[in-house]
Amino acid sequence: MANIIEEVLKQIPKGKISDACFEGANIVLYTKDNEFLLNNKGLIKQVVDSIKKRVELRPDPSICMDLEKAEKEIKKLLPKDASVGQILFDPQRSIVVVEAEKPGLVIGKQGSILKSIREKTSWVPLIRRTPAIRSKLIENIRSVLYQHSDYRRKFLDKIGHRIYDGWKRDKREEWVRISYLGGGRQVGRSCILLQTPESRILLDCGVNVASNDESYPLLEAPEFDINQLDAVVVTHSHLDHCGFVPYLFKYGFRGPIYCTEPTRDIMSLQLLDYVKIMGSNSDKDPVFGSDDVREMVRHTVCLDYEEVTDITPDVRITLHNAGHILGSSMIHLHVGNGLHNILYTGDMKYGRTSLLEPAVTSFPRLETLMIESTYGGKDNILPPKKDCDTELIDHIKETIARKGKILIPVLGSGRAQEVLLIIEEAIRTGTLKEMPIYIDGMVWDITAIHTAYPEFLNNFIKKLIFHKDSNPFLAPFFKRIGSQKERMQVIEEKEECVILATSGMLVGGPSVEYLKHLSDNPKNKLLFVCYQGEGSLGRKLQRGATEFLTCYGQKQEVNPVKMEINTIEGLTGHSGRKQLMNFVYKCDPKPRKVIVNHGESSKCLDLASSLHKQNRIETLAPRNLDALRLR
Ligand SMILES: [Zn+2]
Ligand SMILES: [Zn+2]
Repeated sequence: MANIIEEVLKQIPKGKISDACFEGANIVLYTKDNEFLLNNKGLIKQVVDSIKKRVELRPDPSICMDLEKAEKEIKKLLPKDASVGQILFDPQRSIVVVEAEKPGLVIGKQGSILKSIREKTSWVPLIRRTPAIRSKLIENIRSVLYQHSDYRRKFLDKIGHRIYDGWKRDKREEWVRISYLGGGRQVGRSCILLQTPESRILLDCGVNVASNDESYPLLEAPEFDINQLDAVVVTHSHLDHCGFVPYLFKYGFRGPIYCTEPTRDIMSLQLLDYVKIMGSNSDKDPVFGSDDVREMVRHTVCLDYEEVTDITPDVRITLHNAGHILGSSMIHLHVGNGLHNILYTGDMKYGRTSLLEPAVTSFPRLETLMIESTYGGKDNILPPKKDCDTELIDHIKETIARKGKILIPVLGSGRAQEVLLIIEEAIRTGTLKEMPIYIDGMVWDITAIHTAYPEFLNNFIKKLIFHKDSNPFLAPFFKRIGSQKERMQVIEEKEECVILATSGMLVGGPSVEYLKHLSDNPKNKLLFVCYQGEGSLGRKLQRGATEFLTCYGQKQEVNPVKMEINTIEGLTGHSGRKQLMNFVYKCDPKPRKVIVNHGESSKCLDLASSLHKQNRIETLAPRNLDALRLR
């Protein structure tokens, strides 16, 4: 079967289809026959069943209603209380994107309104949620995608050819191999190369923000060739997993990046911020620029959880909820038509948080599990979540009682929103008195992205938003700080308050700005809620450093540290030791081999040895540049 599209066309009466192409692994057919479009008596479904691939039938652009007329018609069909925002047309693909605050109302009962739009205008409607908190950045990302619709159409078609043109190629010897280009016995620069006779795929491509000399993945490894790279799959938007992706585009990669929609949006934000921080750090040349980030956005293909898709002739992936941050996923790889099945967890939380459901443990098949071990050591026993929540609120109470300010350095995504939800609940239920909770720059934007994708949040928050119309992120005491001037006002203010700011490990960004001004007052408190990488300022302060240096151009300044410093261990978005052991135990089916990564050396080895004893299966803790044959 050399050409799957020809195969599809054979099953449809001649003359009905005007054009056919790929959109990634999906096959899209266009027709000029309106009658056939609306009623083909299940023929398309039959085709789907016979080839087991997704096939979509769309109106040919030539029969779509004129843009202006269609916009008027669509507006007439939509109910007023859906709060419709932008209506954007993608004329190349006959798609109209309708943005609304209440997507459910746009869809109508059993899709009735969508159906009317299709019938009346011959456009294919797609509904997008307008974030409840407006974000210029989300609008920019979406417009980059719409602006380049001609390029996107060609790009998606090219991916399809890569997947299907090699279909049923002569069988060669089959094998599966992985190489650690980063993230082996370390936290930071996660990057794994998966190779088969047909495919070269990167799982994550991150940087190590805490370290100056081992910052980037080892792309100089002999088995890596950027010109042979087929695709990159990104688990989530933390820089240690996605921070080096734009570098690939700088050096000519033009293939697809697969991830969830929230990951795409948050990743773009984090990367643009990273470009800014690199630019202000004058002793090193930036390794990529904002143009490379834009190029990455143009080449991103978003997948939903549980959506199965081919990405090369012999690799099919499915993303599953990882419970770590918004949109974070574990990657399930089905290799060589059932030859081997791999699960790469990325960062994972096997436990409920205020924000997300716990990681999924059930898969159709599984032979090799690659698991993180950030808190995989024997002594990494995390207290129950409830105790951590209470601890957080107690720290805040204690500090405001002595009229101090609380600084919580956070990664833009993850703990920040978890902390916000815990504080919101405490204030809503009267446990904590109301006070301003300042949210600095990027944390605010990322929180806004959370309001665009409530379907990724846990069931409790979804219920609040969808059924009770009460979005905890919109609480009035959350206040945005966007400029240095506003920062200084917060610092000088007499009133007690809580400040959440990036970066999480105090390696630049507004959190360091606040620290400089708050550190010499013993009434204030520095509260760590996320992992502090080896070598970061955060780790040094945690270990009891009594001063730290800041640079102003050539000048260095010594800042004394008199503020109280505390750490809440259990609030992490990573699984603790018990959760990791439990996850492997609960995995269904049970893997035959477990590869431990994303942890300091001792934690990887410790977890690997305990998993071996508990499950009597082969376990490994590879170092960077180690390669393993899985089949
Ligand atoms: Zn992470
Ligand atoms: Zn990580």
